[in-house]
Amino acid sequence: MASFTNQQLQLIIAQLDQAIFSHDQWYKHILRTLILRIPPEKADIAPESHRHCHFGQWYESSQAFFIRENPAFISLGYAHKKMHISAQNLLQKICDGSLILSIDWDSFDKDIDKMRLAFQNLRHEFAAIEKNRDPLTEAQTRDGMLAEIRDQNALVQREQQNCALVMFDLDHFKQVNDTYGHLAGDLVLVSTVQRIKALLRPYDRIYRYGGEEFIICMPRTTLAQAHIVAERMREAIAEQNIQFNNSRELLRVTASFGVTILTQLRSVEESIDYVDKAMYEAKRAGRNRVVDDVNL
Ligand code: GH3
Ligand code: MG
Ligand code: MG
Repeated sequence: MASFTNQQLQLIIAQLDQAIFSHDQWYKHILRTLILRIPPEKADIAPESHRHCHFGQWYESSQAFFIRENPAFISLGYAHKKMHISAQNLLQKICDGSLILSIDWDSFDKDIDKMRLAFQNLRHEFAAIEKNRDPLTEAQTRDGMLAEIRDQNALVQREQQNCALVMFDLDHFKQVNDTYGHLAGDLVLVSTVQRIKALLRPYDRIYRYGGEEFIICMPRTTLAQAHIVAERMREAIAEQNIQFNNSRELLRVTASFGVTILTQLRSVEESIDYVDKAMYEAKRAGRNRVVDDVNL
């Protein structure tokens, strides 16, 4: 999710809107079939009917492929399939010439509501990402960060998952600006976030916490796993050779990392304090390194 460009996000939102619209049309057509008791369309009673409708085709197409691991996208897929099975059940009654029981209708009605909710959840998630994007780096802004990490913390409190926090800050960044100019500094920030995003999974998030300081929230990740990922990120940043202004000189930067996990004993704010401490320890120990939270 974090790795999408703004253009991809806008495309996905437009496609979701289109999918919501065409599903409303499909729903009207199902109602008409049921009320008038006319023969259903073959596709609506076929075994895999959820794959045949407009949305089903988009859901399984390459256009949606890059969000296929998003949890809200997966939930929507289940809700959609279940709703089609309920619809099939109703339509079959018409084919068989039997009565539609209220229990069958109510179950379809409930499934329709659940699917609409799943649509809205996914759309809302993408719209919120687009709205809270830092225009320079395309990382998430701090707005909404606490709320999102609190959601993850709630799952940790209920022992439903691990969740890691990584914080990093570019080393001697002031010197980059002073030596090469502010535009070169901007370029470094953009390039750094792009490199980090390439290492993230669809449900990871990167937030711009301050000028050249970022927080990455990684659900379903242990401290040891986060340390390995942070080490890869550190290498990815240090490996960059950034060219600017057609200058022959290549700009290089490093970053210092802190790693912690959310725990049942800490609030989100406390966890951020601890990951900040770990990062400062990385600075103190010489920079360009990853340090784990020792207070866990
Ligand atoms: P340290 O290794 O201790 O982190 O040293 P530092 O120089 O990176 O730390 P310091 O906090 O003194 O400097 C951060 C610099 O980041 C200062 C500020 O001008 C720069 N900065 C913050 N936001 C931006 C930005 O959007 N663009 C550019 N070009 N520079 C930025
Ligand atoms: Mg710095
Ligand atoms: Mg800083």
